[in-house]
Amino acid sequence: MTTSRDFTGKVVLITGSGGGIGAVTAVEFARLGAQVVVTDRRRDRVSVVAKQCAEASPTGAKALEVVADVTDDDDYTIKTFKKLDILVNNAGRGISQKIGDADILDKYELLMNTNLRSVVRLTHLCVEHLEKTKGNIVNVSSITAFKPKWLSYSISKAALDMFTKCVALELGPKGIRANVVNPGSVKTEFLEISLNVNKAKSDELLEGIAMKCPMGRVGEPMDVTKAVLYLTSDDASFVTGSNFVVDGGLQYV
Ligand code: NDP
Repeated sequence: MTTSRDFTGKVVLITGSGGGIGAVTAVEFARLGAQVVVTDRRRDRVSVVAKQCAEASPTGAKALEVVADVTDDDDYTIKTFKKLDILVNNAGRGISQKIGDADILDKYELLMNTNLRSVVRLTHLCVEHLEKTKGNIVNVSSITAFKPKWLSYSISKAALDMFTKCVALELGPKGIRANVVNPGSVKTEFLEISLNVNKAKSDELLEGIAMKCPMGRVGEPMDVTKAVLYLTSDDASFVTGSNFVVDGGLQYV
């Protein structure tokens, strides 16, 4: 499954691109001509995806490899990127949690730092670069805003949605767009870890999600990638501050 947009000459930074949705998105941007910055916290995974990007690139362009934890302020230095056209804030964690849990604040801080604070910080660092290129931002959020056992995750993603609208308003006059992609259930390690069960049970639960979903299947990373490619392309030049739901209709059941 491939797409047909052209990102030749664009520099694209995708956080959490060592796996899942971020990795598929990085390789697809590379295939469409972009110079990709692959960044994640595990060196081996960054290297594998960077190699896949070079193989996919029509010019064999090497991806820039950045091993960094988005929650560590010292890890991220924007000086590494001399030019930036597109920022995809994709790195995220999901841990189930309830208000009665003893470690409520520990998990709250971890999820807010990973899913929200890191995005605020990196966006702040990138604005001056995006202004020069009239670039744009896509933040990867979720549809899970109302799930009972996902308290801090839901708060962090709801805040991410609102953060994106606020920056779209502020950065529009600078020529920078900002949008959100809200995936439903997508087949990645994230979903497997969230289900928190063995393989057999996980397959059963995935089948249950597929049956519940109006489109009759669980999402693939490429479903989300395609939405990111649209929102970051010139076809979406009048689209900013929007939420683009990619869930096969799951949010309505
Ligand atoms: P994956 O876990 O497959 O990939 C996420 C990547 O981000 C991993 O490589 C992970 O590394 C990395 N990452 C996590 N924390 C950090 C950090 N602090 N610093 C740097 N990298 C980090 O997840 P998905 O691809 O599924 O998720 C991508 C985004 O999509 C997330 O924001 C998630 O919330 C969102 N989403 C996913 C859904 C799904 O069903 N899959 C549904 C809705 C939203 P590591 O493995 O080391 O943690």
